[in-house]
Amino acid sequence: MEKYISEPARQTPVWDEVDVLVVGGGPAGLMAAQAAALVEGTKVLLLESRGSLGGNMTQGLPLLGFLGRKGNEVIKGLPLRFVERLRERGQATHHRRCPLHVSLTMIDPEGTKKLAWEIMDESGVKVLMYVMCVDTIMDGDRIRGVIIESKKGRAAILAKTVIDCTGDGDVASHAGVPMAYGNEKGIAQPPTLMFSMRGVDSRKLRNAVADHPEIYDIDFIPNEFFRADDNCTMVGFRNQIREARQQGYNLPVERTIFMTGMAPDEWWVNMSRVNGVDATDPQQYTKGERIAIEQNSEIVRYLKAFIPGFENAYVDRVAPFMGVRETRRIIGEYILTEQDIFDCARFDDAIGVAAYPVDLHHPVGGDCTLMWCPDCYDIPYRSLVPKKVDGLLCAGRNISTTHLALASVRVMGPAMCIGEAAGKAAALCARKGITPRQLNTKELQQALRAEGVYFRD
Ligand SMILES: Cc1cc2nc3c(=O)[nH]c(=O)nc-3n(C[C@H](O)[C@H](O)[C@H](O)COP(=O)(O)OP(=O)(O)OC[C@H]3O[C@@H](n4cnc5c(N)ncnc54)[C@H](O)[C@@H]3O)c2cc1C
Repeated sequence: MEKYISEPARQTPVWDEVDVLVVGGGPAGLMAAQAAALVEGTKVLLLESRGSLGGNMTQGLPLLGFLGRKGNEVIKGLPLRFVERLRERGQATHHRRCPLHVSLTMIDPEGTKKLAWEIMDESGVKVLMYVMCVDTIMDGDRIRGVIIESKKGRAAILAKTVIDCTGDGDVASHAGVPMAYGNEKGIAQPPTLMFSMRGVDSRKLRNAVADHPEIYDIDFIPNEFFRADDNCTMVGFRNQIREARQQGYNLPVERTIFMTGMAPDEWWVNMSRVNGVDATDPQQYTKGERIAIEQNSEIVRYLKAFIPGFENAYVDRVAPFMGVRETRRIIGEYILTEQDIFDCARFDDAIGVAAYPVDLHHPVGGDCTLMWCPDCYDIPYRSLVPKKVDGLLCAGRNISTTHLALASVRVMGPAMCIGEAAGKAAALCARKGITPRQLNTKELQQALRAEGVYFRD
């Protein structure tokens, strides 16, 4: 039986009162805060529980989703400007087209953290780190702010409009928004602890893969694609996994996945997976992190023994936290579906366009499935607007979608695009004294177009 204690009522200090409050400083939150602050006279505060900005952008992952299947840029506006600024510093690559992942854009995690700060400073966003949003302040079904906790104890932040960019829908969930979790059985895509290896003989690796497709089986992409010294994610080597397992290696995945980093001898490995972890539960997340550390040791041993070029490689960096692909999603005014993605759906209330395939890391087992959108699809504003609660918008991987549609829209290009739209919408609502549900989406689209966001005509 669960045991409870009662806490005495308390006076909670109000630390700040703003027009737009953004909770979570990942790709969605950064763009939301910047977009809101660019609406003149908008006071914006960004809350972040960790000690750096960027969320999953700091894990060594490439940005996915910037190009559509026809090779055109579908993510523009503030996200593209962010990438261009990194590129000017040599901290991002070009968008390389890829037959499997459509496009990939490598970024330097440390450069990303620094640029994120610069952008917040330039646009006048106030940032408060090391605070966790643990509750909401409600006036009936209208959110008025959030409760945060830190070493100083509890405090309140009041806001005209709040944007939930926590990835996990923490704010929405506390506010009483109806939520969904994972697939029809309530199981989510598994988390992964990323790490990088340096000292890889990349030329040897590329030549071996290109010259020996009969040995090194690669999923979907012709092996020759990897000969060029360019951005890539290698997915496959199922033969090698099978052979390693026969020799007693304990590997959690059916296929090998690693991708180029910014240095010529650097590759980031995306292979641990801890099935069944609910990352909103710290006890499960802790256990999962412990398991992932052990998995990664075995994966390093495997790569050095079975993948050409890795013989003398060593672990260089480990991501600052185990990355979470999926937890809660809001139930919003519209639930984006996989069918919308396959149909290249158009919506009157589009806030941008996404094109990344449905990329599902199976919640059970060790495999992954990709299903492509023929071109690109609209993201409707209604998927950012939660049911039941007013004064709240959601952006990033906690918007209103099905489990399969999330497997497409969750990647960082669309997350940034959605963040920009949510930020702009929240600032317009705060200025007009209306709720997100009342916002005229034509006005929002006009503001987004003015910022360079891509729309299909
Ligand atoms: C292992 C892995 C591999 C992936 N591979 C790719 C890839 O190659 N390319 C790609 O584009 N995408 C990839 N993704 C998906 C992508 O990284 C995420 O879906 C995307 O980052 C979502 O952005 P977000 O801003 O919604 O959330 P996040 O990036 O998770 O950011 C959320 C932020 O909110 C903060 N936060 C959370 N809760 C609170 C709270 N209660 N109070 C205050 N702050 C809070 C967090 O600290 C974090 O900074 C991958 C994801 C994982 C886990």
